[in-house]
Amino acid sequence: FLIKYDDLAKQNLLGSGQFGTVTKMFHKESNMNFAAKAINYDLTRDNQDNHYLMDLKASLKFANQCQHLIRFYGALNAEGYIWILTEIMDASMDRFYQKVFKKNLQMTELFLSKLACSVMGALVFMKQSDVMHRDIKPSNILLNYKGEIKVCDFSISGFVVDSVCRSVLGCRKYMPPEKMQPNQSKGYNSKTDVWSFGISLIEIATGIHPFEGLNDLQLIQTIFYDPPPKLDETKFSPDLCRFVDKCLIKMPDDRSTCESLSENEFIRKFSNTPIDLGFIKTIIDEVVNDPLE
Ligand code: ADP
Ligand code: MG
Repeated sequence: FLIKYDDLAKQNLLGSGQFGTVTKMFHKESNMNFAAKAINYDLTRDNQDNHYLMDLKASLKFANQCQHLIRFYGALNAEGYIWILTEIMDASMDRFYQKVFKKNLQMTELFLSKLACSVMGALVFMKQSDVMHRDIKPSNILLNYKGEIKVCDFSISGFVVDSVCRSVLGCRKYMPPEKMQPNQSKGYNSKTDVWSFGISLIEIATGIHPFEGLNDLQLIQTIFYDPPPKLDETKFSPDLCRFVDKCLIKMPDDRSTCESLSENEFIRKFSNTPIDLGFIKTIIDEVVNDPLE
């Protein structure tokens, strides 16, 4: 069905990032809530006859065939913004893991395995569709009370703001060594996303980003010259530690592919165990009851 901007009623703010804000929107006709991301990009400025919007819609629609990607419902041009309408989820992984550690709880390996399974599933699907994510990080992995874990913001980053991202520290924290060179024109491939997920997995498992506290120059030097970060082998299982190591091989050609990682022992050993819904509900409740200012 087609959603018109006038049929949407603004609810609360879900969050804001570098490029705009995400608002909960209620659609009366369908009685559904959506997440609407407002990107400050004035189409009339370029007078492009909405070609831009059509391209964006085409590049987002592919996602609806994959259970590990956020469902896409439409893109609108209104009030000087592009609004991207997607399925609404209950929490993002960055806020989720922060609540886990604030409550002095542990991230279970079962949960981390399900997380890895979903993200690798999303990466495999995107690779088959010839789409790169380019911005894998905890805030772009969302979950809901049903225990579904899904990736969002695929292709948007490449579409609107690829050049902005390179100059922003927040994005660099998840970038692989091969992206640290200044004139990287070779473009992204899915090995980039595998590295970014390895970094995210350490952050989510330990509650702290492995490069926390580094300034821009230190960050670039660390990623480029130091051995890759690892999980503490006294705190996590050998299977999980090995999975992370395979994501964080510095040479992209030697780094594991998303296909082989999606069949990795760390994912397979939990494949017949359902995700712990009680744990997820407890933590999402914390996130939901702590609204943004
Ligand atoms: P970033 O990903 O850098 O945090 P975004 O603008 O992409 O910035 O998103 C801001 C926040 O909005 C996210 O951190 C997340 O908490 C929330 N959010 C984004 N999309 C959704 C969604 N579909 N459902 C629920 N919350 C969302
Ligand atoms: Mg995002």
